[in-house]
Amino acid sequence: MPCTVVVGAQWGDEGKGKIVDALSAEADLVARYQGGPNAGHSVIRGERTIVLHLIPSGILEPGKRCLIGNGVVIDLEKLHEEVEKLEALGVDVRPRLGVSSSAHLILPYHKVVEAVAEQGAGAIGTTGRGIGFAYRDKAARTGLRIGDLADRDAFVARADRNLERLRREYPEASLADTSGARLFDELTPLVRWVLPLVSDVSYELHSALKAGKRVLLEGAQGTLLDLDHGTYPFVTSSSASAAGAPLGVGLGPRAVDKVIGVAKAYATRVGLGPFPTEMPEDEAARLRAAGEEYGATTGRPRRCGWLDLPALRYAARINGLDELVVTKLDVLDEFDEIRVAIDYEIDGSPPPSFPASAADLERCRPVWRAFPGWQCATTGARAWSDLPEKAREYLAFVEREIDVPITTVSVGASREAEVRRTG
Ligand code: GDP
Repeated sequence: MPCTVVVGAQWGDEGKGKIVDALSAEADLVARYQGGPNAGHSVIRGERTIVLHLIPSGILEPGKRCLIGNGVVIDLEKLHEEVEKLEALGVDVRPRLGVSSSAHLILPYHKVVEAVAEQGAGAIGTTGRGIGFAYRDKAARTGLRIGDLADRDAFVARADRNLERLRREYPEASLADTSGARLFDELTPLVRWVLPLVSDVSYELHSALKAGKRVLLEGAQGTLLDLDHGTYPFVTSSSASAAGAPLGVGLGPRAVDKVIGVAKAYATRVGLGPFPTEMPEDEAARLRAAGEEYGATTGRPRRCGWLDLPALRYAARINGLDELVVTKLDVLDEFDEIRVAIDYEIDGSPPPSFPASAADLERCRPVWRAFPGWQCATTGARAWSDLPEKAREYLAFVEREIDVPITTVSVGASREAEVRRTG
């Protein structure tokens, strides 16, 4: 593996947390490359479900170094909370955690203005954590970074300028009582806490790779929520696809050896935006209940649909997938018929390629193929031959259609519930 990227091949929530947790056993360092604390990776360890938001899932693996890259946006309060929670569970986090000094900060004013913006006509169904506004400041070159916390005066001056601008832009946002100085003073205990964790993530990873160590780069969300390649504007504000991985940790693209995509055996999406294979609500309710499809961070019910092969082929192309891991196969165990979108049609004709515009994707109608369900439990399967024949046929079809080998199939939430394919 020297440097492997794990990327969501759908709209996020594919079960990447479990896969990264399993792969981190083989890695020396695990780094998160984009996103903020909206991403909730759920990892099951024994009886316990641990939800990680900012810290790489590798933290649960003893002895692994975990890094938060420059591509991530950090809410100090949330990071602190997460570290405390993990330490209360006996995980030694701080000696193994490094945070890039170039990672941008989510500041309280980002959340205040996001709440106002999401009331208006331009709402896109964000998680309300200020993430998009922190990335907006980053692109506008008005953001404040972890490294800026070391210089109070410069921080205060820039925060004041940002507040002044936001007050003009969002007069209805309650920003009157705040100031840069007040903000910094309120953050001071967290600043003291975080500065010892600051690391040159790029240098650390580069040196580790040079020394023959193995690195795992972990994303959040999924390809169809990528800022550039997702269903814009219903996307996240960062580069969730594999190309964002080296960028978000400070490595060159040639440092990456392998890209592993993760996709559910069906599809879900949260928030607004086109979702061609979405099911009618009665059917979705059944799948949502079987797959426990509620947001790990917000508890929001996820929209549910069948597997979308045009979208998965697109994800294979955008990420250059070497392998695909299919998760949650067991969720389909009870269904008597399983549907898959094999293509799209717009006004009766196939689009020439995956539509770049959300409006065009909205007009796409899936061309369906139905598979008979296997209607037996797959959770106990540990070898390919343990899977029911109908499930194997379904997986073989998917693999042929997207031209990417399926190397692992996850058949339950627990760590051991997976089938690794050999040969
Ligand atoms: P992530 O953000 O991509 O890590 O995905 P989430 O953690 O939000 O969602 C994955 C959810 O599915 C978690 O609750 C996992 O414990 C659970 N999960 C992962 N793989 C499987 C699987 O194969 N079967 C079942 N039933 N649950 C799974």
